[in-house]
Amino acid sequence: MEETLKILVVDDDEVDRMAVRLALIKTGVRMELTEIGDGNEAISILGDRTYDCVFLDYRLPDQDGLTLIHKLRSSEIKVPLVILTDQGDELIAVELMKAGATDYLSKSRVSSENLAQILRNAIRLHRAEMKAALANQQLRESHELLIRKNQELEKQRQQIQLQNLKLLEASRLKSQFLATISHELRTPMNAIIGFSQILLRPKFGQLTHQQADMVERILNNGKHLLMLVNEVLDFSKLEAGRLELKPEIFDLSKVINTTIAEIRSLAEAKKLSLLVHTELPNTLVFNDPARVRQILINLLSNAIKFTESGGIWVEVKEMPPNRVTITVRDSGIGIAPRDFKHIFEAFRQVDQTITRKYPGTGLGLAIIDSLVQMMGGKIILESQLGVGSMFKIELPRQITSPTLAVDVTALHLDGDEIFYSTQNSHQSPSTSSKASVGYPHLKL
Ligand code: ADP
Repeated sequence: MEETLKILVVDDDEVDRMAVRLALIKTGVRMELTEIGDGNEAISILGDRTYDCVFLDYRLPDQDGLTLIHKLRSSEIKVPLVILTDQGDELIAVELMKAGATDYLSKSRVSSENLAQILRNAIRLHRAEMKAALANQQLRESHELLIRKNQELEKQRQQIQLQNLKLLEASRLKSQFLATISHELRTPMNAIIGFSQILLRPKFGQLTHQQADMVERILNNGKHLLMLVNEVLDFSKLEAGRLELKPEIFDLSKVINTTIAEIRSLAEAKKLSLLVHTELPNTLVFNDPARVRQILINLLSNAIKFTESGGIWVEVKEMPPNRVTITVRDSGIGIAPRDFKHIFEAFRQVDQTITRKYPGTGLGLAIIDSLVQMMGGKIILESQLGVGSMFKIELPRQITSPTLAVDVTALHLDGDEIFYSTQNSHQSPSTSSKASVGYPHLKL
């Protein structure tokens, strides 16, 4: 359905108004025509009603067209304005357009064709302007919304940053507390262990069977407690980045065999087999032997703890070109794949309940993980629930030391002597030296 246009004609001259009216009617456009004779009335009527187009005589008795356009614009009245000019007013047309008129037409050229075209163009232009203004307005609003959202996000970011700082501080205090407490606990624990060992020696008097049994329990529990305390101390040092490796050249298979010998009784107590297989053409490595031993002890005690029947297998192998692998495999309860990631996090255990069957701090694997990373190695875990687990540690044959680079491929054992070459950054060319095997051996 064709729309009815609302048109206002503002002209004080009755004859001119009639000419416009007749031309407009002749266009055949459906319209509702309003005619008025002065500028102030035009402002008032345009403030109350909406029009699709206004034909405005430039020379009104109360004001000229330019003043009227300014007044309309300052009252935020937006309507297509076509200025009707007299002969000789054309020069002012440019000013009128600049001020916001949509178009102008000399009264001498008023005809139905001209008015139809001007009307069509003016309305199209005005609607396009209105659309653009609306889009601009929406753009401005969404821009402001974005700014507000950004400000909110920035505020949240600052809050999170603050919370993070607080958490970091709390975590630092916790680590400091753990380090202090575990350090303080070590002294009395060492006294308990030392004195119970002394009490068990026959030269300090014969204990009854029952007394000896009780002292042995004190000793074993003391050792266990010391191990737990050491674990917490190591963890807090690792967390604070204060744990340092003390690398030296040592015989890996020797350290592995002595560690297994230490722990064998635990496997025997559970009637588990414990088999070792070493396949190392060169058994010498440059690493921290105490920390390698600690990794092995942790893996072995876990394997024994989580295995009820069957056995534990340890395999040490060469991994060309310059790495070694230590694998601990068990036929224990196994680990579900969903827990693989978590068990390496501190204090995380598969069974987190207070009534859990297997004791422990949940720090062992977290410590192993950090140590292996420090050594430049990696851990591979394979496991199946109810079948067993395999922890494979891959280590470089020589870890990087800030003070000394050792070419372990040039190392060899000759009897009880290790021959090796070092490449010190301050001391070239390379020098050849020898050291005796033993544990701990050569401190570099
Ligand atoms: P802890 O042994 O003190 O609980 P760990 O960090 O050494 O702490 O191990 C974390 C968890 O990983 C254990 O509680 C256990 O759930 C799981 N886990 C580790 N080793 C084994 C294994 N050999 N067999 C089955 N589960 C294991």
